[in-house]
Order: sequence, then C-alpha cells, then structure tokens
Amino acid sequence: MLPDFEFSCSMFKKYGLELSELQYEKMDKYAEFLAEYNKNVNLTAITESKDILIKHFIDSILLTKYIDFPQGASLIDVGTGAGFPSVPLKIMRDDLKITLLDSLAKRITFLEKLCDIIGADAEFVHGRAEDISKMPEYREKFDFSCARAVANLSVLSELCIPFVKVGGHFLSLKGPNEEIDPALKAFNLLGGNVENSFDYDLESDQRRLIVIKKISQTPTKYPRNSSQIKKKPL
Ligand code: SAM
Repeated sequence: MLPDFEFSCSMFKKYGLELSELQYEKMDKYAEFLAEYNKNVNLTAITESKDILIKHFIDSILLTKYIDFPQGASLIDVGTGAGFPSVPLKIMRDDLKITLLDSLAKRITFLEKLCDIIGADAEFVHGRAEDISKMPEYREKFDFSCARAVANLSVLSELCIPFVKVGGHFLSLKGPNEEIDPALKAFNLLGGNVENSFDYDLESDQRRLIVIKKISQTPTKYPRNSSQIKKKPL
C-alpha cells in the first residue's frame, strides 16, 4: 500500500509532479502487489510505504521532468527488476511503449502479473542485455534505453547503447558519485555522446541523471560477452 492519496499528492507536488486519482490507484495496487510478492520472491529491499512512494515511484517519475518523451516513444528498461523506472513511467505516460528486460525469469513473471493487475501494456523479455541486443528485432530499435542500479556507467553503456536508434538516447539513473569521465571512451566506441547530466535531490539522497545521445551506429562487435564486459570494461 502507498500512503494515502492526499499525502502522496503532496509529495508529488513537492517535486513538481501531478498525480491523478487513477494514477494513484494504479500505484497503490502496484505497491501492494510488490510488498505481497516480495515476501516470497526477492524483488526489493525497500518495503516501507513512504519509501516505496519516494525511492521507487517518485525517483522513476522524476525522469519526466528532465526528459521530454515524445508521444508514443519506445523505451527499453535494461535490468528492470521490479519495474523501475519504466512501469511508474508507463502509469504516468500511457502512450509510451515499454519493453521490460531482465535476466531473472522470476522478475519477468512478477512483471507480467503486475502489468495485468494494473492494466499496463508492455513487452516482456527474459534474457541478458548483451545477448538480446544482438537480436535484429531489438538492436537499434528503441527511442530510449534506460537503467537504474544495474552496473557502473562503462558496463551499462555496453549493455544499453546498442538498443538505441541513431538519434535516440540512453538514460542512466545514478547516485551522485558516478563520474562521467571514466565512461567517455565507452560512449565514443559505442556511438554515444554525452548530451546532458542533471543533479538533483530526492529527500536526503542525491541523484544524477546522465543523458547519452546516440550519434552513430554501434559497431557489430559490441556488446561483447558478459565475462569480457566484466573483466575489461571499455
Ligand atoms: N532497475 C531496478 C531498480 O532500479 O529497482 C532493478 C535494479 S537491480 C539492483 C538490477 C537488475 O538488473 C536485477 O533485476 C538483475 O537481474 C538485472 N540484470 C543485471 N545484469 C543484467 C543483464 N546483463 N541483462 C539483463 N538484466 C540484468
């Protein structure tokens, strides 16, 4: 369950966001199902209702303040876990076409059930990003790829940039300590370029959103296999 509608609205307002009753109801159902499912399947360490509201939902939705998602844009969420950030985004922006990718089957099963409960249309993909992005139906097919709390920026770039069309963007949701400079070589090799970075506060936490624009095709040799990526980040 989430805190009540009034309190949830006031927290949204504090961050310049607006929440309708219908969106609140969907998030409330999401929070309830997440807490219930989390008793048997490890999905999140965040379980207090106020924390779920702020650290999962508002953190995810804050993306809409910094990114102007065109109507109907496609977005793949790499290592989505329990659906963050893309499922809360979908609740706020039903026009977005979301693809939920995770290497753990039990998380994809949770997401299929969740999206059925809250009436969210999504595509579900079980697999590792480094394998899925080699498949022609997923390679350079998305307007946006995004990831929160999956890996460091160099590793993440190799997992996420191959999914993005030239002209599209990779959105990396990070904590304040993630430096951009060590990943510049990786961006360059993968066809990306830093377009922007935003620092902002979320209650007592600091967040950093890094926006990478895809400016040229990713060479077919990327991504490498997972052991190479881990052993020798670009
Ligand atoms: N993005 C979610 C969030 O912010 O709450 C989940 C973060 S969780 C710490 C990392 C997730 O990434 C896990 O669900 C894990 O299974 C998935 N993952 C890690 N490496 C992956 C890969 N190479 N391809 C696909 N999923 C991956």
